[in-house]
Amino acid sequence: DIYCGINNLFCSFIVKVLVLHTPIGVSSSKGIILSYKPLVEAKSLLIIDDVVASYSDSNKLCRLAEELGGVCIETSDYIVPAFIDPHVHPESLGFETEISITMEIKNRYELYEALRKNPIYVGEWILARFDHLLYSDCKPPTRRELDDIFPDKPVLLIHRSGHFGVLNTIGLRIASSHSGIGGGIDYENGFVFEKDLMLIREHILNRAGDEFMIKLLDKAIEQFVLNGVLTIGVAGCDTKLLNNLKTMDVKDNLLLRTYVYMILDKIDIKEIVREYVLSRLMYRKLRVNGVKVILDGALGPRTAYLSKPYSDEPTNNGVLLINRDDLYRIAMSVNEYGLQIAIHAIGDAALDIVLDVFEHLGTDVEKLQHRIEHASIVRDDQLEKINKLKPILVVQPHFILSDIWIHERVGEDRLKYVYRFKTLSNITTLAFSTDAPVEPVNPWRTIYAAACRGAYESLPIYKHTMSEKMNIIEALHSYTKLAGLALRDNRLGTLLPGCYADFIIVDKNPIEIREPRDLLDIRVLGNSVKIIKELTKN
Ligand SMILES: [Zn+2]
Repeated sequence: DIYCGINNLFCSFIVKVLVLHTPIGVSSSKGIILSYKPLVEAKSLLIIDDVVASYSDSNKLCRLAEELGGVCIETSDYIVPAFIDPHVHPESLGFETEISITMEIKNRYELYEALRKNPIYVGEWILARFDHLLYSDCKPPTRRELDDIFPDKPVLLIHRSGHFGVLNTIGLRIASSHSGIGGGIDYENGFVFEKDLMLIREHILNRAGDEFMIKLLDKAIEQFVLNGVLTIGVAGCDTKLLNNLKTMDVKDNLLLRTYVYMILDKIDIKEIVREYVLSRLMYRKLRVNGVKVILDGALGPRTAYLSKPYSDEPTNNGVLLINRDDLYRIAMSVNEYGLQIAIHAIGDAALDIVLDVFEHLGTDVEKLQHRIEHASIVRDDQLEKINKLKPILVVQPHFILSDIWIHERVGEDRLKYVYRFKTLSNITTLAFSTDAPVEPVNPWRTIYAAACRGAYESLPIYKHTMSEKMNIIEALHSYTKLAGLALRDNRLGTLLPGCYADFIIVDKNPIEIREPRDLLDIRVLGNSVKIIKELTKN
């Protein structure tokens, strides 16, 4: 009481410590899945300090917790390990959520009217999203029309795809005075594309201040939690984002276990090593794990680096953003400190370079759990190297359903090399993720995509790659335990003793589902993060 009177913060700290040290019993009459592979089930768990201490086939442990002065949580639904998404961009997810309310408007004059009445400010800018293919004339907004309504404030409207935007005149003026922006702008209409759009977005976000970024992160975290994802990997983090994550962790607002991969741009490897150590000493849920490197682009805009040209653009092989020698130097320096490197490689030619560099690291690749992000196209001759080196592959099964043009990009002959999840899971660690906001956060959708591969959507890829379908248990394993290994923490992804007690409550047993389409009906009813937060509050 005295401490509470003196210092509220310190008081809540004591209360938290007491609650965390209080034994928590959890029991389910339907059952608890502790691990998908091997399958381990129980009826109750004993949790101490956020970690599973023990499990039992009866609800004994719940009563034991109560006898020890703790609490018992009982449910008549299923308890399963929470999902882990090892490759996401939470600040972008929050940003998209923040400005997307206007996206379903079906007429551009209605869009203008909505913005006039309720402008969405990001700093001094007004931002919104649109989809002109919903309009009857299919015409996007233009600079002049925006000027009529907003003559004195900068406006940026971003198309649903994220590859195209529209600026008003003031916005255009600010954007073109910014260094590096300009190559891809149509000044007449105010249209801005690809990299220029990305730079403008970055500029707007950076000026908007830390408070705004924390608001975006809160929004993203809320979405992950509601969908049953309680751990994320931030695949590309700068110092501003890292500092905001630190602020949230200190204030106990970082609900997710958050493992971070830094972009080397403005920070050197020694500094990252320092953050690696510091995060483990000072923070509760935040961990700096290593370095993210982007080697090539993506298949949609034909920038993924391919060994043979695009089938629908025969003079284009895509782009390589870092040459082999530079990648080698970066990988060596990360490896020397024992940190993890995560390399974005979508095209098979980019993968060649990663595998070549990884061959020089030898057995360290497996020991230090180095990652390859995406690995979307893998030739047969590359499988052997992957099998030998055993990098962790972090893949996004939902790409199958989104990349409906993939057969045009790579041609029928190469379709068999695309998203080879079953084959890859047989030779190395395959972790599932969404790359959110690129793909939807909902894990059941990702598992459905991996299990069905576009069969119900009549996608051409299905016919060529149906043998790559994953069964549901394998998919759940890739989204829990193996995703935890991608974050280099073997306490993640199961509810076995010694592991983090990160669980979700669901209304159907996922391993009893026979028809993969039924996965989409599973509802997440609760999660350990909210339950523990609630206990702490009381
Ligand atoms: Zn990404």
